Amino acid sequence: MKLTSYGAAREVTGSNHILDVGGRKIAVDCGMFQGHRVDAERKNREFLYAPSDLESVILTHGHCDHCGRLPLLCANGFSGNIHSTPACRDIAGLIMADTAHIQAKDAEWLRKKKPGHPFQPLYGISEVVESLNQFVTVGYKRPFLVTDGVRCEFRDAGHILGSAMAVFRLEDGREIAFTGDMGRAGLPIIRDPQPIGDVDYLVCEGTYGDRLHDPIEDAENELAEVVNATVERGGKIIIPAFAVERTQELVYYLHKLTLEKKIPELEIFVDSPMATNATSIFRVHQECYGPEIQEIFLEEHINPFGFDNLHFTTSVAESKKLNEVEKPHIIISSSGMCEAGRILHHLKNNVENPNNTILIVGFMAAHTLGRRIADRVPEIKIFGEPYKLRARVKILNTFSAHADYNEILRYVRTFDLNRLRKIFLVHGEESALENLKGLLLEAGVKAVEIVDPGQEYEMP
Ligand SMILES: [Zn+2]
Repeated sequence: MKLTSYGAAREVTGSNHILDVGGRKIAVDCGMFQGHRVDAERKNREFLYAPSDLESVILTHGHCDHCGRLPLLCANGFSGNIHSTPACRDIAGLIMADTAHIQAKDAEWLRKKKPGHPFQPLYGISEVVESLNQFVTVGYKRPFLVTDGVRCEFRDAGHILGSAMAVFRLEDGREIAFTGDMGRAGLPIIRDPQPIGDVDYLVCEGTYGDRLHDPIEDAENELAEVVNATVERGGKIIIPAFAVERTQELVYYLHKLTLEKKIPELEIFVDSPMATNATSIFRVHQECYGPEIQEIFLEEHINPFGFDNLHFTTSVAESKKLNEVEKPHIIISSSGMCEAGRILHHLKNNVENPNNTILIVGFMAAHTLGRRIADRVPEIKIFGEPYKLRARVKILNTFSAHADYNEILRYVRTFDLNRLRKIFLVHGEESALENLKGLLLEAGVKAVEIVDPGQEYEMP
């Protein structure tokens, strides 16, 4: 058995690992590289192996850096099955279609700006639809045959809806598990990361291998404090949030806080067509729900993602009308880093009023408007016009879907460390992986390898 990583090796995007079992090749994830445009474009376009050589693909979850190149893989000759959980397939379908849409818009914009620009989208919507036809979905804890002599089983990864860790069992008894992106215990909606049992090898992510998060238990109370303080000032709360998972988590918490009367009954607007579509996926995948959501909502027959004062705006006209709503309310809109989309209109209309709050709940990359707001830059530009940032800015660091290093260590300790022969570290920046490697060795793991891109590792 051999492992080769063609993405997310000493970096965080482009997840793509190939497991070779006696010449039969299985890919785990086939994600998009993100970052500097020219560099990412080159890496995204070319495969360093023949896609037609793969027998099947296992998809751990629907984030773009894990599923974003699947349509291209299929268009380039991969004809096997893509195995995922049912919710993962639905989320991936939404994300891949959105990626095709963004690329088409980028190409159009570039050609308008620089006529003759060679940029071509990696794929279009028809390739997305073709690839969706190759999905075969399997629930958690339902072992299935991937190829002759290799079985696979999904376990909850606790990261986003439908996210899974994948365990491979060979006929000779060897077992290898992939964490995919490892979530955290206590996240709302979904279940906590579930133990896998014991394996010989583990391919583990290390995004936050050198960082600790604020406790997730604080998220609800912090959110209530921000809402109540803003309502007292008569202001509005504007929340830039990613359309998938973060928006639904916010809706879930706000619903729960309203039911518990910890915040007043406010109008809440989800103003993002993508978030509206994502929320309908969350509504139907009850098989992914954790115990809390079952207890608070399902047993009472209450829809956690739909209540009287929650509105999903669809048309642009409806979105624009939100500016006329005078009394305090909450707007959740994308994009998450304030780079495009409807959030820009809401920021433009609201950043200059000191009674309002801009609530930051996600990571803001350098050089984005979201980062400038988080850094409280006094004057920001929106659609090329300057605006004074007078609204309050509140940052909640409790919302993270990735395990920090203590949470990774706690998870690794659930394995029999005598049996575990080696941990391969992927999906992290250099410093995070080095730090995590040290901590794992200290914790008693026998061998830890930071995976190099394109390098083949034997697993005897
Ligand atoms: Zn992810």
